[in-house]
Amino acid sequence: MSNRKPIIAGNWKLNKTLKDVFAFLAGIDGKLPSEDKVEVAIGAPALYLVPLKHHGDKKLKVAAENVYYKGFGAYTGEIAAEQLAAEGIDYAIIGHSERREYFHETDEDINLKAKALFAAGVTPIMCCGESLETYEAGKTAEWVTSQITNGLKDLTAEQVANLVIAYEPIWAIGTGKTATNEIADETCGVIRDVVRKLYDDATAESVRIQYGGSVKPETIEGLMEKENVDGALVGGASLEAESFLGLLKMYH
Ligand code: 13P
Repeated sequence: MSNRKPIIAGNWKLNKTLKDVFAFLAGIDGKLPSEDKVEVAIGAPALYLVPLKHHGDKKLKVAAENVYYKGFGAYTGEIAAEQLAAEGIDYAIIGHSERREYFHETDEDINLKAKALFAAGVTPIMCCGESLETYEAGKTAEWVTSQITNGLKDLTAEQVANLVIAYEPIWAIGTGKTATNEIADETCGVIRDVVRKLYDDATAESVRIQYGGSVKPETIEGLMEKENVDGALVGGASLEAESFLGLLKMYH
């Protein structure tokens, strides 16, 4: 546990209709913990960002699940950081392993997205994480060091101090197989040391690092006690109001 404010964020991925979004908002209405204790966010498909922002509890921060790094122009199907900023969207998840795998996003794309988001005033949640093969080969530290070093290229210390990084081992996503609290803490610590090396102590102590991968209401508390874990990025357990609130019960 540190003095960084924890950030618990859902990632709905490609799920829900507008009707489901409103049912979720009704389910959490008046039940979120105080903003002094924890920051709470939902990452949602682009179509639902504005309704979430307009109709959700003011304490609920809203995150895009992706963004394009170019500004306005002839890029059919894309969404710009300026558009997110104009609608008051707080965060954008970038570099999720599903986007890297299915949409071939590279560290360089992710770095450009981070720059575009900071320029527009939206905070990136930059994801990293290794495959089972890399984990079993004992190369996790090397892998995330490279992803984060490339992702942070040319960002300023001030930007990185405000960034959120999510460590999500691919082998723990949607598998029910959570990394142990110790593994999560250790790798979040590796990432913090990368920031320390590239920037300085103050930046490393300020950047918030989440763990993601099969986090559930029953497992989150032990995780959040770890020094280097500043929050969670949660898929499955963020979909229903009840389990989402279950992730936050320690903050009431
Ligand atoms: P699960 O919590 O469903 O494993 O998903 C994790 C994730 O990918 C969040 O971004």
